[in-house]
Amino acid sequence: MSKISIFWFRRDLRLHDNAGLYHALKKGMPVLPIFIFDKNILDKLADKRDRRVEFIHQALTEIQASLKELGSSLLVKYGTPEEVFPELLNQYDIASIFTNHDYELYANERDESVREFVTSENIDFNTYKDQVIFEKKEVLSGTGTPYTVFTPYSRKWKEKLNDFYLKSYPTEKYFKHFFQTQPFEFPTLASMGFEAIGTNFPTKVLRDSIVKNYAEKRDFPAIVGTSRLSVHLRFGTLSIRELARKAKTLSETWLNELIWRDFYFNILYNFPHISQGHAFRKDYDKIIWRNNETEFKAWCEGKTGYPIVDAGMRELNATGFMHNRVRMIVASFLTKHLLINWRWGEAYFAQKLLDFDFAANNGGWQWASGSGCDAAPYFRVFNPTLQTQKFDKNLEYIKKWVPELNSFDYPQPIVNHDVARKRVLPVYQKALKEI
Ligand code: FAD
Repeated sequence: MSKISIFWFRRDLRLHDNAGLYHALKKGMPVLPIFIFDKNILDKLADKRDRRVEFIHQALTEIQASLKELGSSLLVKYGTPEEVFPELLNQYDIASIFTNHDYELYANERDESVREFVTSENIDFNTYKDQVIFEKKEVLSGTGTPYTVFTPYSRKWKEKLNDFYLKSYPTEKYFKHFFQTQPFEFPTLASMGFEAIGTNFPTKVLRDSIVKNYAEKRDFPAIVGTSRLSVHLRFGTLSIRELARKAKTLSETWLNELIWRDFYFNILYNFPHISQGHAFRKDYDKIIWRNNETEFKAWCEGKTGYPIVDAGMRELNATGFMHNRVRMIVASFLTKHLLINWRWGEAYFAQKLLDFDFAANNGGWQWASGSGCDAAPYFRVFNPTLQTQKFDKNLEYIKKWVPELNSFDYPQPIVNHDVARKRVLPVYQKALKEI
């Protein structure tokens, strides 16, 4: 049995321009690509009709088809990494394992435990930056500290950027190094206890026209004015380097969105307390929320009587997507109008969003509730009616998701805007000791 390398796919579900895969293939030993449907994660998913699991399964099927043409195959396992690696060590003579960095809390713990196990078996464990342009402590302020405000972070990010960071990893050069084998059998969704939904996933193509007109069109939920590529960035079916290269030539505004993504990964890495359930600014942990469960249910179901909020929640429930402008409105509404802990909203989004990503989701929720880095000041309470007038003035988006808008079936507002505004400010002020 000859020695092989393993490449472990996680949030990087593509064969092209993949840093860890490139290094694995370049090393020259046959590379066996693997993916683990991690029971530690899947067991926690309450809904067995989960679009993310379906998306991953589909992406793996595409990889499998490409590998088949190369005489290779993806080995897909269903289990925990702690179970799977010892099994692989029994089956193959493994010299090295290659994978890409993952910055979330569970992923770090998982990787450390796999690293510890395999290195004790004299196998090296090599990890690479792949899902961001700059990671960890690559973008620091002049005094060597991580940035907590977006604008100076993005300025430094742009200063640091050069062709080296945007260059693709030419994996194709070494495709001949994939381990040659008959195709392995894939676990089906049903065999893992999941059900296919038949979701129509956003296409993997970045349209130049979208990027070029992004600055003018990005805020209107009734039109497709944003890329809808978030799920592909989340699972790495597209390369961030490829997108950033395009953004650089086509639209600074869109490039800034990709930088926001890096920014939140930077916060996740440098401020681990946000992964422990804490507010970024710890004083905000002292807010006494109302946490009314009936109102939370109305928010989740899109029955608050505020059409723009309800449209957003119904879009989320029906498709797994919500436009960014509307995410900001519904998040502000939950925390400020209803005074419900942002963590409830964060958890609901985590369950429903196809593009759910801890760093961006936590960042977005804390931004809306005022407790995050570079957040909207707490006393800014979005007015859903004014937001509608500005961003959906012909009610096109609203009518699509709330067709019963003008009928008796539509509920009365769950709370009056002015009353809610007067209620929330002293609660925040008290927590922040301003009164
Ligand atoms: P585009 O507008 O085309 O932007 C391009 C890409 O940039 C996106 O695909 C995304 O990867 C990135 N991006 C854009 N805006 C942001 C942002 N504010 N923060 C971080 N990255 C950004 N985005 C997620 O990817 N996952 C989440 O779980 C998530 N949760 C959010 C929760 C709240 C409360 C809010 C306000 C925002 C959240 N966002 C999240 C950010 C943003 O809403 C989505 O990235 C965006 O709507 C996706 O649509 P798009 O692909 O068309 O984005």
